Amino acid sequence: MHVVMDSASRASRHGAVSATSAAPGGREDTSRVGPNTLIQTLAVVRDRRGPGWAQYVSSHARLPDPLPRTMVDERAFGALVTQLVSEFGVDQAEEYLSEAGARTGEYVLRNRIPRPVRAVLPRLPRSLALRALLRAVGAHSWTFAGSAGFESRVRPEGGEFTLTPSFVCATAAADRPMGSYYARAMEVLVRALVAPHARVAEQACIATGSPCCRFSIVLAPSRTPLVEPLEASCALS
Ligand SMILES: [Zn+2]
Repeated sequence: MHVVMDSASRASRHGAVSATSAAPGGREDTSRVGPNTLIQTLAVVRDRRGPGWAQYVSSHARLPDPLPRTMVDERAFGALVTQLVSEFGVDQAEEYLSEAGARTGEYVLRNRIPRPVRAVLPRLPRSLALRALLRAVGAHSWTFAGSAGFESRVRPEGGEFTLTPSFVCATAAADRPMGSYYARAMEVLVRALVAPHARVAEQACIATGSPCCRFSIVLAPSRTPLVEPLEASCALS
């Protein structure tokens, strides 16, 4: 299964903005993330607050204008998150980021997941479909999560994944989890491809002192508790 969270040309990854790190496993330029991090987040601000606010936030976060359609330095996304928190407060910023994550997930569904895959995965046993989705996301996670390492595990009624360290959450120290962008993006994908009532939530976050950002995936539509006891370790094995 081939899925890319955002488009990127090799040329763009060697563009003017420097990349600062290379990840294990042969991935390169993992300090870059897909342009949807900026595009969708600013689109939410524009829709909720108007174009003047979107321009204000963009300029104060020193984002490029116009926004690039190729990979961007993850620090630009961090600067945008910092600006959102500064202007609107943590809760409002998280709400905007959550919607931006959902829009990014929908973009990925429409543009980055082949139609046959969209047709086949929902017909598979849910654990198999989730395993295939998480494997595909993991293979391309650096376009989604930048320099963060991505690990995942499938369990009978769902699964979980970690981002270590999640750059955005590490940027936005707060008294609440700050990774709803990632949670909602994943939730859109899981609902479309695995289980229509699935829920994804961040259970532990670097922003609040956890060594990683840890997300749970619950597939059942029932009243299955979403919040589980936090585990001290971020290891999923
Ligand atoms: Zn987090």
